Amino acid sequence: MTVADLDKDALRRKYREERDKRLRPDGNDQYLRLTGRFARYLDDPYTPVTERAPKTDHVTVAVIGGGFAGLLTGARLKEAGIDDVRVIDKAGDFGGTWYWNRYPGAQCDTASFVYMPLLEETGHMPTEKYAHAPEILEHCRRIGKHFGLYDNALFHTEVVDLTWDETRSRWLIRTGRGDAFTAQFVAMGIGPLHVPKLPGIPGIDDFRGHSFHTSRWDYAYTGGDPSGAPLDRLGDKRVAIIGTGATAVQCVPHLARSCAELYVFQRTPSSVDVRDNRPTDPGWFASIATPGWQQRWLENFTANQTGGLAEEDLVMDGWTDLARRFRARLGALPPEERTQERMLAAFEDADFEKMEEIRARVDAVVRDPETARGLKAWYRQLCKRPCFHDEYLQSYNLPGVHLVDTDGKGVERITETGVVVAGKEYAVDCVIYASGFEVGTDYHRRAGYDLTGRGGTRLSEHWAEGMRTLHGIHVHGFPNVFLVQPTQGANLISNIPHNLTEAGRTIAVTVRHALDHGYAEVEPTARAEDAWVEFLLSGTARLLGSADCTPGYYNNEGRDAGRKSWVGVGHPHGAMAYFTHIAAWRDSGTFEGLEFRPPKGAA
Ligand code: NDP
Repeated sequence: MTVADLDKDALRRKYREERDKRLRPDGNDQYLRLTGRFARYLDDPYTPVTERAPKTDHVTVAVIGGGFAGLLTGARLKEAGIDDVRVIDKAGDFGGTWYWNRYPGAQCDTASFVYMPLLEETGHMPTEKYAHAPEILEHCRRIGKHFGLYDNALFHTEVVDLTWDETRSRWLIRTGRGDAFTAQFVAMGIGPLHVPKLPGIPGIDDFRGHSFHTSRWDYAYTGGDPSGAPLDRLGDKRVAIIGTGATAVQCVPHLARSCAELYVFQRTPSSVDVRDNRPTDPGWFASIATPGWQQRWLENFTANQTGGLAEEDLVMDGWTDLARRFRARLGALPPEERTQERMLAAFEDADFEKMEEIRARVDAVVRDPETARGLKAWYRQLCKRPCFHDEYLQSYNLPGVHLVDTDGKGVERITETGVVVAGKEYAVDCVIYASGFEVGTDYHRRAGYDLTGRGGTRLSEHWAEGMRTLHGIHVHGFPNVFLVQPTQGANLISNIPHNLTEAGRTIAVTVRHALDHGYAEVEPTARAEDAWVEFLLSGTARLLGSADCTPGYYNNEGRDAGRKSWVGVGHPHGAMAYFTHIAAWRDSGTFEGLEFRPPKGAA
């Protein structure tokens, strides 16, 4: 079937109906934090905590977060000759999300060559096109060692307060381990999706069986290990997994092979495209890994994934497929007919074609027609996080695996003994929550601390009407602080490690400049920050994260929170435009929009 044969109006209608079923007035408030009885879900099952004396010293740069953001920033600072760097993380080691998420089947969804940072610098060749979690965690440790970031790191340490000391031009950092040390500069790489959340299902507190969140997989209960060994303690267990996002898509095949009965509770199906993983051929890798290769790959992937107009496609996978289709359609249009309307129509056609293929794949793989019907995603591919897997759909053909489709409503209730949907109780021994992480909640809530900046202003006050930054990195009123994250930079949907790569470089160049010239402080002007935010808001065609899409974290759960949610965007001309802008800004050496100040009392 070609797109011309499709009833596009009927498809649009179907997409809207499916979205409407899922819209709910409480948006992000529908989720629960892991407090009280659920706080035990947050314990570190991997590394014992070791005692140490509190720190009361001074460092040049404190980096909060030891995941990709902290590692990339720390690495670039070290490369810039700034040695006095201290990374702080609540985990027991480097790795961030890869430290915590060790569920069976975890692997990167974006090609390793553009996902794993600093491959060229560390000389690591990913073993697979989509590396598995243990290799990524090991790579984080490799980066830590390669750049000497272990030397001064504080693990199992949570920052609880960050206050600007105006007289000494430095930050006072307090932690839950009793530390009270100072830093001239602070980089914050706290992660976009790191605070686990639970669905606010009535009765969730009542369940008397075993339960855990996927980000703290309980191998003591399930058996097996993160490298994929069989979950050999589940052979006599009835297990429920709630959620069918990217995490569930990866771990369901492992549960399906191991449990006596597996019930997968679904609210919205993910779109699950072909994965096609393969080992890396060392000869091929040697041929591509010429100087500057990873930056070229990053830029090529971003151009293909978010812009669609690059000449070649190095990664060639499901992320860039949509753009390839769009490009082919565009190429067929004479230049004079390339109006915005025609281009949007070409993009929609490419999307219809792609999604029809993904839905047809469900029918081709899943034997039970009712289950197949339930697994089909009725929305545009980039409305929700696309998934890729070659065993997920197949899992539903195994005996003992049941899809419980809630038709967009979600689980009705949890009892002492099971999970209820449409009045029917499914008795289970264990409930696994694959319910994701907080996105779109207030930054200080996700960070676990507020910042007190110049004049005693809190970051939460400065951002009361929504996030305000220059380039997604600098904040007026908060000197010497840098954010390492994608919002107000490229955007959340573009390749996150590319965002972090550029932020790390920019921060290192800025700190180097301040130190070389003896400046005590650097801060964006109010004017520069205002101008950047207004520029971000000038974008109109926001296809990604659109309110027309099925609710999810890409569109603030379908809830328009006014300006507060509108500013959670990226560069209006796309991710590549941001990366080009920030590189030119950095290279110019003029630091436009930033004010550097000498030490107080200096002439
Ligand atoms: P998600 O937020 O994507 O998924 C949560 C799931 O829980 C959704 O299916 C959601 O349904 C469901 N849910 C929520 N409330 C209820 C309810 N009341 N009843 C039934 N179901 C409910 O979390 P994930 O952990 O899967 O993924 C989060 C993100 O982490 C990904 O989008 C991705 O960015 C990242 N990730 C990356 C990976 C990689 O790169 N390798 C792997 C895994 C995750 P609904 O869709 O209707 O809201």
